[in-house]
Amino acid sequence: MVYEAVVCPYCLQPEAVYRHGRTADGRQGYRCTACRRRFHLHYKHTGCQAGTADKIEELALNGSGIRDTARVLGISPQTVMAQLKKRSSS
Ligand SMILES: [Zn+2]
Repeated sequence: MVYEAVVCPYCLQPEAVYRHGRTADGRQGYRCTACRRRFHLHYKHTGCQAGTADKIEELALNGSGIRDTARVLGISPQTVMAQLKKRSSS
């Protein structure tokens, strides 16, 4: 049996993570008790990974356009636009 140390990608606390269901295609889901967020280790879509939102914001601040950012990060332009709208409203 192999144990896999899972660290929360949002708050970086290893002790607060427990397994929390599986997706329809069999990927393991996890939930963090510290920040109460749910995440996966291997995402099917790159736009859902932790840190993608920060990369989008960083590229936008450096003058990259929506299509440019989408092409560089390998995500949809709609994902970039939705993230930028979320950031501008908060
Ligand atoms: Zn957490």
